[in-house]
Parts: sequence; C-alpha cells; structure tokens
Amino acid sequence: MRIEEDVKLGFKDVLIRPKRSILKSRSQVDLTRNFSFRNSGRVWTGIPLIAANMDTIGTFRMVQVLSSFHVLTAVHKYYSYTYWKDFVHSVPDTVLDYVIVSTGMLEEDLTKLKKIFSLSSKLQYICIDVANGYTEQFVSFLKRIRDSFPEKIICAGNVVTGEMVEELILSGADIVKVGIGPGSVCTTRIKTAIGYPQLSAVIECSDAAHGLGGQIISDGGCIVSGDIAKAFGGGADFVMLGGMLAGHHECEGLIFEENKKKYMMFYGMSSKSAMDRYVGGVAGYKAVEGKSVKLLFRGSVDKTMRDILGGLRSTCTYVGASSLKELTKRTTFIKVSEQENKTFNNQEA
Ligand code: 5GP
Repeated sequence: MRIEEDVKLGFKDVLIRPKRSILKSRSQVDLTRNFSFRNSGRVWTGIPLIAANMDTIGTFRMVQVLSSFHVLTAVHKYYSYTYWKDFVHSVPDTVLDYVIVSTGMLEEDLTKLKKIFSLSSKLQYICIDVANGYTEQFVSFLKRIRDSFPEKIICAGNVVTGEMVEELILSGADIVKVGIGPGSVCTTRIKTAIGYPQLSAVIECSDAAHGLGGQIISDGGCIVSGDIAKAFGGGADFVMLGGMLAGHHECEGLIFEENKKKYMMFYGMSSKSAMDRYVGGVAGYKAVEGKSVKLLFRGSVDKTMRDILGGLRSTCTYVGASSLKELTKRTTFIKVSEQENKTFNNQEA
C-alpha cells in the first residue's frame, strides 16, 4: 500500500482568475476548434462539446438540434441497424459531421459497427466505451477497431491516468475519454472506492495525450457551464455532458406528471433501470454502479445549449481568450473553499 500525498482537485475546488483583456464583447469569442487527429489523420471543425452516449442523451433527436450548433452527439449503442439506416438516409450529410457512433466490445457490436459505417462515408467518429478502460481485453479490441477502420476518428475510454492515456493512443485511439466516477448518476466511487477528481484527471491526462499528439475528452462531472470552462481551462480538448443535457424534449426519456408538474426519468448506464431495459436485469455477479433520478422536464435543449455556449464565451472574455483554443494558456486556477452564494437557491422567480 502507498499513499500519494498531493490533493487532487475537482471542479468545485477551483475558480479561474480573471485577466486583463482587450476583447470588447463576448460576440468576438470563437468557440470553434480545428483538430487534426494523430492516428486517423482526419481533421474536424466544430464546437468541441459532446452529448454523452447514454440512451436518454445520445439520441437521434439530440443530433438534430446539437448539429445546428456544430456540437457533437455520441449516439448510444442501443439503436438497431434499421434505425440507423432510417436516420442516416433522412438527414443531410452535414449533420453526420457531428455524429459519433458508439460501440460495445462484443463480436456482434463490431459486426453492427461495420454495417453502420457502410451506410455513409460521411460518418467519421467511433466511440468505444467501457466503464473500465484499463483491461488488456479493451486494448486488444481498440487495436482491432483501428485495423478495421484506419481512417476513422476513434475515441476510447474511460481512464484517468497518464500512462493509460498513452497506451490507448499508442494502440490506435485519436481521443481518450477521461473520467471515472464523476458522473451525475454514477455510483462507482461509492460502490468501489475507485475514482479520480475530474479536474486533476483532465490536467494530468491532457498533458500525457498532448505529448503524443493525441486529444482527450473530459467525461462527466460538469454541473454548470463554469465546470465546462474549468475542464477546457485544465486542458480538455472536448467535454462530454450527460446530466446537463438531461430532462429535455430531445432525450426520448419517459415523461410523466406528478402534482401537475412534468418530469422525465434519467438514469446511469450501469443502473438497474438500464440493465433491466437492455440485458434483462442485473447479473448475479455484478453491482449496480448507477442511479435513476426524476428531473423536472426542461423543454427543448436549444435554450440550454445557448446558455452553455454563452457562459463559455463569457469565461473567454474574462481571461482575454479570443478563441476557445487559447483558454488553457490563459487559465490560472485558484484553489478555493467557496463557490457561488447559495442564499436564494431554489427561490428563483
Ligand atoms: P454527467 O455529465 O452526467 O456528470 O456524466 C456523464 C457520464 O457519466 C457519461 O458520459 C458516462 O461516462 C458516465 N456514466 C453514465 N452512466 C453511468 C453509470 O451508470 N455509472 C457510472 N459509473 N458512470 C456513468
């Protein structure tokens, strides 16, 4: 046993120090980024936010709205090939620029992935998503996917440490997904004691990835748009959002009424609800590592997205970054023991 003495940081432990700026208005801030990927050699331009590949977040309806903002959606792996076929043939090609196709690690997942990619050469992103990206089996599967799709952008995860980020990039990933345990409906830290405060994971993993010419996604733990700014400030190239996009019309989740208020269900992909739905219940040897929550229905995601992008532009103006790309080098984090003033929380008119 050993103990690492330095305290790792989450989003709640820091704020960003403002800096002198020559920017006159938030409208001068460019949130678009151009990436050139290490292993696939592809390029992509857009706003590097991603709707999570959870079944109520990474939906085709979400793609329709977020693509209009040039934001990505990691479409969940539970749509059948037939649904994919209908979707790909019904949207303009430009929409497909903002689609990530998620896959699991089964043989049948690989077969389905190949069929989906045969639908359109405009599909360019693959996300191989497992709760624990540290297994040899995962690395072997990643290598197989890279061999099968040499020119597609591959995201792989989740991990939280630099050495594993390097191994995944050297095994074919263009982008490594970073985050274990920070998610809004995740109970991994409670069940297993495994985890890593998200901001430190981002700082350490982005350093490892950038050293090799790779990129990272900060996945999980963003509660407000300030957290997204902190993730980018810490070095994240992309930020993935679940809870912040939950409860909207585009989520395709169960809507119901209670006391004249409209709610929508949201649950973790390792929750009992998800396992009941997709694998016929919780296997005897497994623990549930996610929870189900009911959220007040929030209407269309369009308004939420505008709010998030407005917040990010404002962060950039406060530190004098004219583009999102500059945010990391303009960021000085200060460690704090306070965040917002909560006096009137839940009393908003
Ligand atoms: P959020 O933005 O809601 O804080 O985090 C979203 C992320 O939480 C997802 O992208 C995924 O990585 C993670 N996640 C989703 N469902 C579960 C779950 O049931 N258990 C765990 N441990 N993580 C989950």
